[in-house]
This record gives sequence, structure tokens and C-alpha cells, in this order.
Amino acid sequence: MFYRSTRGDLEKITASKAILRGIAEDGGLYVPIEIPKIESNSLKELMNKNYREIAFWVMKKFFTDFTDEELLYCVESAYDEKFDTPEIAPLRKVGENYFLELYHGPTLAFKDMALSILPYLLKTAMKKEKIDKEIVILTATSGDTGKAALEGFSDVEGIKIIVFFPEDGVSEVQRRQMTTHRGNNTHVIAIKGNFDDAQNGVKLMFNDKIFNEHLERSGYVFSSANSINIGRLIPQVAYYFYAYSQLNKIGAIETGEKINVSVPTGNFGNILAAYYAKEMGFPINKLICASNSNNVLFDFMDKGIYDKKREFYITNSPSMDILISSNLERLLYSICDEKTDVVKGFMEELNSIGEYTISEDMKKGLNSFYGNYADEDETINEIKKLYEGTQYLMDTHTSVAYVTYNKYRTDNKDNTKTVIVSTASPYKFTGAVMNALSNEYKEYDDFELINKMEKITGIDIPNAIKDIDKREVIHNTVCSKEEMRDTVTEILGI
Ligand SMILES: *Cc1c(COP(=O)(O)O)cnc(C)c1O
Repeated sequence: MFYRSTRGDLEKITASKAILRGIAEDGGLYVPIEIPKIESNSLKELMNKNYREIAFWVMKKFFTDFTDEELLYCVESAYDEKFDTPEIAPLRKVGENYFLELYHGPTLAFKDMALSILPYLLKTAMKKEKIDKEIVILTATSGDTGKAALEGFSDVEGIKIIVFFPEDGVSEVQRRQMTTHRGNNTHVIAIKGNFDDAQNGVKLMFNDKIFNEHLERSGYVFSSANSINIGRLIPQVAYYFYAYSQLNKIGAIETGEKINVSVPTGNFGNILAAYYAKEMGFPINKLICASNSNNVLFDFMDKGIYDKKREFYITNSPSMDILISSNLERLLYSICDEKTDVVKGFMEELNSIGEYTISEDMKKGLNSFYGNYADEDETINEIKKLYEGTQYLMDTHTSVAYVTYNKYRTDNKDNTKTVIVSTASPYKFTGAVMNALSNEYKEYDDFELINKMEKITGIDIPNAIKDIDKREVIHNTVCSKEEMRDTVTEILGI
């Protein structure tokens, strides 16, 4: 199994190299040259496997240059007691709905599913490729990737990590999780700008040849912890199989029966993992792509036009406040018959005029998707309604997926069993969630609301955020988007 760039010629590289590089030199993203198919009886076999076994099974198909021993080491080091439940990714039945809770890891968001394993994959890849330079992980975050990457890469020998987050675009709990993070190889910087600015700044550094040569002479090489790294994406395929096996176990579906998934979407990584699962032959009917008011993907699914020239909103689901969804590039590659010059053309248009339009033929490739969105009121109202009806408390991002799924059902009268992907703990967004339930919480700050949330839900405050407001803030650098590179140079002393 080899990987190539979505924008390049047919240079084929191994999984290890793709994981180490993060992004291709031509600015494209690495994609598997072929999506591996599931053998006819392996779906049945998977039904009895636990999370670690399924993760191993998936990664063995994609990361073929890793030995079994290496993959086992990665999987077992990642999915252990850091997760607060042995199931790792439990499926909860709530009324007639099924929520796949991906927030039981150390930082309370689904980013832990991949970022708890990426450091081990990267370390193994470094050994295999005999890398003698120090790796610098450059990361842009809309709130959750940052802390999950810090957690995963803290104190890992041979690696430094630098995180950029939008100064005004994260929740108070998210901010505090990052700015209080300890670890002798970690740097956290707020930027005056939004997530797209952060991601763009990081990509510019990755693609600057002269800067990278300078870096190498100083003994460093860049890599990425964002979902542009294929090492982030593939581990996420596993939980779709796992959700399926759990639905099967409780008798909700027969083996082979199709399901839908509804995914709260920002950078298009999570839902792309579901798409890859479907391409592998996994029985998925519809991929429901749920957006918030930054609904650029809804318009794209609807009209085939991607237009980033629009107002940017800071919403109550900040981890999805994104107008340039990086991983869509990988979908474009798939639905244009893998013509890299076509993908390259779209990306250049997006960069120069801010939009591109796909062909009618390519639009057919979107048939397995349904796009819609939830505005802020809908997001809030449904949190309250579901909580009052069932005592189940979802976070704002999960609510976006829930609202969008309900729109899908109304539009299509489709009763296929649907997994709603729950991407964050409500404890990360206490302000928005508690104020959704009642206006009696208005005068409290997000940290006081952590205790209030514990009281009403009876769910213990996760250790990850206990007393978080009392921890010392150790990262307080702020820079403009133009200063990102200088900040990196300064940190590395080069
Ligand atoms: C990152 C994130 C998303 C969006 O996921 P993508 O893979 O970027 O589409 C949704 N919800 C939460 C809570 C997140 O942290």
C-alpha cells in the first residue's frame, strides 16, 4: 500500500514517509493509492472484536510497511486507561437515537481517538526511516486538536510541538486546557485571526522550500498533527466499524445491514474517515455532513460550488468554525477519478478567486452524502429538548449533528438506523450548554458552570478539567497571523 499527493505526479511513498511528512511538498495531501477492500466474511469476524482489535485490523490494511508488532505496540499504547471507559468509544442508545461517544479520551473530544495514537505511529516511522533530525509538529487548532496534540506529544523525545489557536475562537475551557499545559517540548500561541488563518499560516510554512531548507540545516524537520496528516485520518476509520459492531451486538441491526452516520463537520476529517470506510465496502448508506452557520459545505453538497467568500461566524460550536475544509481535497481527488491536475486547479482557484465549481460528473460522486446545517438557535433548542425528554446531555457540536440528522429524516423519510457522532463532552462547552438548558445560569462563568453541570447531570467532572481554572497559565504569547513564522523561528532559536 502506497500513498501519493492529491496534486502531484505518481511519486509513491510508504505510509511511514507520508506520516512523517504530514503534507506533500506540492501542497497536496497524501492519499492511499488504492482503498483496501473488506473481504466477504471479515465483517462477521469484526463483530466480536474489541476497540483495539478493530483499530489494529484497520491500520494493518492501510499502514502495510509497519510490522504487526509495531502496530500492536502503537494500538496498545494508545487505547488504554487514558480513556475513561474500557469500551474506548461507547455507543449510547437514547430514545430511538444512537450516539457514538468519541469523547472519553484524555482531552474530552474526538481528536483523542487519533491523537493518542499518532505520536506512536510517528515515533515508529522515525525509527523506520532513520530520522536523525528533531521533528517539529506545527498545529493549527479550532480548539480541540491543540490540547489533544499537546497531550499526545508532551515530553516525547525528539519531538517539539507548536500549537496555534484563534484568540477569540475557542471556549474558555478549551483555552485553559491549552494555556495551562505543561511539558518541556510544548508551545502554545494565540493568533489574532480565526482557524482558517491559523491553518493557512501553518500550510504556508510547510510549503516554503527555503524556510524548510533552513530548518533542516538547523537540525529540524516539520510534521503535522492536523487531519491533513494521513496518520490522523486512518485511525478514525476504526470507530465506524466499532459503532457498527455495537449496533449489531445490541440487536439493532443484522450483519450486512446498512447504516447512516451523521457527522458534525469542520475540516472534513471525521466524515472522510467514514467515506473511506464506505469505500472499503463497509455497509454505509448515507454520510450526513452536518455544518453550523459556517455552512460552506452545505452549499457545496447542494450546488457543487465551493465558495469561501462569505461572512465568518463565531458560533457556539467553535470547533467547526471553519470556511476552508482541508480534507475536502481528498474527496475531490476520489470523485474526479484521481486526476491530480484537476484537484490542483480547484485548489489554485480557491486560493486566487475564492471559489471553484465541480463538474456534473463529479457531482454524482457526492450522491452518498447529504449536507445540511443547524443554526445556533436550533443547536441550543435541541440540547434542551433532548435533555428534558431523556436526561441525555449533548454538547453543541453533537447537537449540530443531531439537528441535521432530523432534517435528513424529514426530507428523505429514511428509517435506516443512524449513528450520530458525538464529538465532544458537554463539559468542554459549559457556557453554551448550560445556558441552553435555562437562563438561570447567565451570571456564572464557564468554570463555575462545570460544577453546576455535575450537579444536574450526576456525571462526575472529568479529571481532565477538574480545577482547571486554578491551574497556572504558562503560555500567553499572542501574535498576528503575519508573525507566525517569526514566532516559530524564535521558539526554535534558528
Ligand atoms: C474538530 C471537531 C469537529 C470537526 O471535525 P472535522 O474532522 O474537522 O470535520 C467537530 N466537533 C468537535 C468537537 C471537534 O473538535
